[in-house]
Amino acid sequence: MIDQMVTERNWAGNYGYQAPRIAHPASMAELQDLVAGTGKVRALGSRHSFNDIADTAGTLVVLDRLDAGISVDPQNMTVTVSGGTRYGTLAAELHRQGFALHNLASLPHISVAGAVATATHGSGDGNGNLATAVAELELVTADGTVVTARRGDADFDGMVVGLGALGIVSRLTLDIEPSFEIAQSVFEGLDWEQVLESFDDVTSAAYSVSLFTDWSGPTVGQAWLKDRTDHTALPAGLQEFFAGTPATQARHPLPGVSGSNCTQQLGVPGPWSDRLAHFRMEFTPSQGDELQSEYLIPREHAVDALRTMRNLSDIVTPLLLVGEIRTIAADQLWLSPNYGRDGIGLHFTWRQDEPAVTAILPLLEAELAPFGARPHWGKLFHGDAAAIAPLYPRFADFTALAGRLDPAGKFRNAFLDRTVFGR
Ligand SMILES: Cc1cc2nc3c(=O)[nH]c(=O)nc-3n(C[C@H](O)[C@H](O)[C@H](O)COP(=O)(O)OP(=O)(O)OC[C@H]3O[C@@H](n4cnc5c(N)ncnc54)[C@H](O)[C@@H]3O)c2cc1C
Repeated sequence: MIDQMVTERNWAGNYGYQAPRIAHPASMAELQDLVAGTGKVRALGSRHSFNDIADTAGTLVVLDRLDAGISVDPQNMTVTVSGGTRYGTLAAELHRQGFALHNLASLPHISVAGAVATATHGSGDGNGNLATAVAELELVTADGTVVTARRGDADFDGMVVGLGALGIVSRLTLDIEPSFEIAQSVFEGLDWEQVLESFDDVTSAAYSVSLFTDWSGPTVGQAWLKDRTDHTALPAGLQEFFAGTPATQARHPLPGVSGSNCTQQLGVPGPWSDRLAHFRMEFTPSQGDELQSEYLIPREHAVDALRTMRNLSDIVTPLLLVGEIRTIAADQLWLSPNYGRDGIGLHFTWRQDEPAVTAILPLLEAELAPFGARPHWGKLFHGDAAAIAPLYPRFADFTALAGRLDPAGKFRNAFLDRTVFGR
């Protein structure tokens, strides 16, 4: 079950895990024994985070040998799935059975437990992040005991976005709905001033709206509109969107990259499972040779934050491959960057120049701090626990919960010490 690690790296290749061991338990019993008998341990998902969040000084546990066990409950409209299952696998099976998740991230390659642990999100004014779909979770806690928590239970709202600090999430039960279709259209060259004047109209124009920009110049590069065909918001045959014009072939968010890696566009309706993500499961998502950061900003500060970003273009744009603006609905999950507030996500796909990116992040965070910006847990950011704790009303409740579930700090790592526990 335990393999010696050689050079294990994250998806972007910018981080090499320090853990001396990696384990692939093949059963719940093996997983429980491993956790109970190990000094330091953490779960590793599909390795799509850009920082050291998943690492440990002990054993990394990968759940890829546990059966996906996708089990739909049509009465309660939920699906139960193993934590290591990738969204792409789950989405295809759900669609096959006539069901849907409310949303997906830009890529379907990520594991369900890994995405939920960092509050990974897609876009849509009415769409909470992916963690908001969790109705129940099962986790193996520090002494190997299996704990199950359901929505409404005490501490459940603290356990879902757990940053891997509370245990190994072995199974999750997610809300589902009847399958639906999406028609995805891309518009190019939107007028920035019109977008800022009518920002609410822009983001409510479809079920999920993403804007791609490098922050320079008078236009927004692209708007990706994912419209649900069962309650379409976009007028048929729309030829202009805030002065943008419809793309006539499939686009990639990154200028000059082929759109063939991306989900179906040009307004062709089809399954949610093939349209809600930007990137197709069978291809490398995004570009690959890149870094990412993202900050979640309360909706009421959206336009001011966007204006601030445009003013920072001189220093941000040269390091950027592309930026993305999305919207996310409020939730009640203690460490969710969307806790208690509807918001926007300001995402940065950086060139893979980590020293330069690391150097710019303190400035970026200082500029966005007046808006209460919360960093995405799985991407590159600068702030430490002293900066982050005041942004989360339930932060102390989370550290107390972690202390109760993991009194010896088995799941603690350098990332958590730096950004959560403050030592
Ligand atoms: C190309 C690309 C596109 C992206 N697009 C988006 C996007 O659209 N929206 C967005 O919000 N983010 C996005 N991300 C970020 C990504 O979704 C998050 O970093 C996510 O957490 C990665 O999940 P993972 O399965 O790779 O987990 P990992 O990165 O392997 O781990 C992340 C965290 O989850 C914990 N974890 C993993 N499995 C378990 C488990 N079974 N039990 C307990 N804890 C566990 C780990 O310990 C760690 O703390 C993107 C990343 C990439 C590389």
